[in-house]
Amino acid sequence: MATPLEAVQTALAWFQNNVPVGTLARTTYGALAYSTGNNQKVLLIATAGAGANGITGTMIDALQTHLNGNNAGDHAVAGCANTMAPPGVWHMNDAERQLMRTAELAVQEGSSLAPAGALGAIGATRVFCGSCQHFVLPHFTHTAHNRLAWN
Ligand SMILES: [Zn+2]
Repeated sequence: MATPLEAVQTALAWFQNNVPVGTLARTTYGALAYSTGNNQKVLLIATAGAGANGITGTMIDALQTHLNGNNAGDHAVAGCANTMAPPGVWHMNDAERQLMRTAELAVQEGSSLAPAGALGAIGATRVFCGSCQHFVLPHFTHTAHNRLAWN
């Protein structure tokens, strides 16, 4: 059983070991672990930046295999689906903000049929920008190095 933080850290290490250095320099990869109301564990991944080519099915499959072999396979890897930023709003398409928009929708709805889920941890392969610090980090209790936050 991996904690949300362990799942995120495993994903970040995988990005850093499997994405070409030149792409990593121009691209942010991010991961956010959350649980749904019926206790499904999900690891969302997103990418943004000049080198970003999106999250592919091949990448999702490879990361899932890696998680399965690293005690974090209780988290199902999913690509971030919510990549469209409102026009004129800076940083809304940053990987961290994509992750937050998608995860908030997944965990916020609570009812007798579907209790609310919970955010677990978020991280990125580079330091969060000021905008992401302001809008993302307050959703988490602990922060380390401004590129990792967890509850
Ligand atoms: Zn940002």
